[in-house]
Amino acid sequence: MRVAVIVLLSLLNCTLSHQGIKGDFAELRQNNSTDSIPQSAKKLINSYKDLVIGFSNNNIILKDGSKLLWDDGIKNKSSKLQLEKPDLKDMFDQKYPVGQLKSSPTLNFDPGRIRNEPFFLKMYGANEKEVRKNLTEITWCPKLVGQKIMVTRINSIDKKLTEISKELDEHPELKRYLTNIGGTFTWRNISGTNRHSMHSFGMTIDINTAYSDYWQWACKCTNENAVIPYKNRIPQTIVDIFEKHGFIWGGKWYHYDTMHFEYRPELID
Ligand SMILES: [Zn+2]
Repeated sequence: MRVAVIVLLSLLNCTLSHQGIKGDFAELRQNNSTDSIPQSAKKLINSYKDLVIGFSNNNIILKDGSKLLWDDGIKNKSSKLQLEKPDLKDMFDQKYPVGQLKSSPTLNFDPGRIRNEPFFLKMYGANEKEVRKNLTEITWCPKLVGQKIMVTRINSIDKKLTEISKELDEHPELKRYLTNIGGTFTWRNISGTNRHSMHSFGMTIDINTAYSDYWQWACKCTNENAVIPYKNRIPQTIVDIFEKHGFIWGGKWYHYDTMHFEYRPELID
């Protein structure tokens, strides 16, 4: 019995000192290298170099010296809470699938729909006036459409959309989806919510609504818990061109919005 106790105590001692060593290493990494930065925080840093300059003590560090909390420590958030009060880490919980969808999105699978608002307000402007200062006009698909649209210059989104529109211009068979652009910039909330629409920032474009499908139109409701059969009429070529330039597509969400493309390069590998 006595031998057993001694063995148990020495095992415990060994475990504790091992944990101590591991703890020390973790702290060293935190202070001296980039190894302890979460992979997804690295994606934010790499995708938004003009805004995000680093990561320290569970915060991302912005260029103006301010910080935004990375992980609020709340575990097992419901999809409602993730939509309403996400931290930065939550934005990466669902992996956005690049390329052709293999099957319709499963219940509440909405990669990219979880957005930490303070981050986007910092990046594109804290209010309508601030956002408007960064807007510029571009000509959408000069050959096929020629519509003037207002988009932000932040993250060179004006240049990226000009490039996307040039590529789409080479596809006359897609003209009907690209005419009569549904909208780019409008300072507003998402319908039925108190959350900002990404259209408030000028980094989002809705293509022709006449060939688009939206979950709220299908269920004639704004109830997130509604059971909604998937629907899409947007050709994959359009999706591929947008994704190549860092835009995600709302057609990959359970709460689908197939006209909607939004600049979220941190979600595209
Ligand atoms: Zn939209």
